[in-house]
Amino acid sequence: MQIINGKIITPDAVLTDHTIVLEGDRIHAIVPAHSAPSDPDRLDAHGQWIVPGFIDVHVHGGDGNDTMDATPTAIQAMGRFFARHGVTSYFPTTMSAPADAIARAISNVASCPQPQDGAQHLGVHVEGPYLSKDFPGAQLPDVLRLPDPSEYQYWFESEVVRLITVAPELPGALGLIDEGVRQGIEFAIGHSGASYEQVITAADHGARQATHTYNGMLGLHHRNPGTLGGVLLEDRIYGQIISDGIHTHPAMVKLLVRAKGTDRVILITDAIRAAGLPDGDYDLGEQPVTVRDGVCRIANGSLAGSTATMDGVLRNVMQFTGLTLPEAIPMATSVPAKAMNLAGRKGVLQPGADADIVLLNEAIDVQATIVCGRVVYQSS
Ligand SMILES: [Zn+2]
Repeated sequence: MQIINGKIITPDAVLTDHTIVLEGDRIHAIVPAHSAPSDPDRLDAHGQWIVPGFIDVHVHGGDGNDTMDATPTAIQAMGRFFARHGVTSYFPTTMSAPADAIARAISNVASCPQPQDGAQHLGVHVEGPYLSKDFPGAQLPDVLRLPDPSEYQYWFESEVVRLITVAPELPGALGLIDEGVRQGIEFAIGHSGASYEQVITAADHGARQATHTYNGMLGLHHRNPGTLGGVLLEDRIYGQIISDGIHTHPAMVKLLVRAKGTDRVILITDAIRAAGLPDGDYDLGEQPVTVRDGVCRIANGSLAGSTATMDGVLRNVMQFTGLTLPEAIPMATSVPAKAMNLAGRKGVLQPGADADIVLLNEAIDVQATIVCGRVVYQSS
């Protein structure tokens, strides 16, 4: 297959008059249009944008389904829904829950085949339960606990857990990080009251991300820089951000991008099952959630995930920061790929990379989504 007639955002340049030549599930070459071999199987971008597929490292659910449902149908349906919003791969994200519920969700993803018509799941993001009771957000406070090797050993053995959000100040957290890093697992600091110094120590142990920066963490104070101060200043840490205009003020999104640069910011949705569905009553991690005007809250008023989509948060971050699409796109593609050890394979349009490709119009609406060389979505 070939993709023709678009503005191709590659790592080095925006190419026009070029054709992307696919071979199976990979990008074979990107060549000047006149030198492309003839191929009847062509997708015409009609002069619009051709970008790498989006990667969402923090997403609980969508379209009525949740990772904690622990069924293959839920994961497959989530993949289909996310693909409509330009996502080609994602990390189904668990909630704090009793050990057996988390284990079920993990083993479900481990055994769930990739959908033929949606985004790929590339492993599990375990958010909690080793989180601070002072910063639970919408995580069920009763089930928050200290890191327990007899529980997390299973996560390692599953070989599908790729990212763990942990409050590094908890007793046993640094041991968990040490052991997980040896297994190739990434760690995100989140739902945490870690001091500035504890953030640096966590980074020394291998933590490389911050979970939904600003939300669920100790904020800035000029005599106590807190978790946020550490996250903003520690260059080793990528900052996830929910740029939905609800979880974070537009100015704070701009501040994060300015402090860390576009090569250290990861756009996430943190979406829940209500994403893609009307306002109403839903649930998240065993707690009732009410969605009004797309804003999700638990009974005490805390924000409870989002109904955001990756194309939406990308549009927002461009609006909030004034960045162009080529400037902003890494935050939804190559940066999460790098942070999840997928550099070169995912999140870039270059020969040898997986053919995960999205066509966008000038309004950043998704026109088509291609996952590993297969067109899984086309707007009508
Ligand atoms: Zn969270």
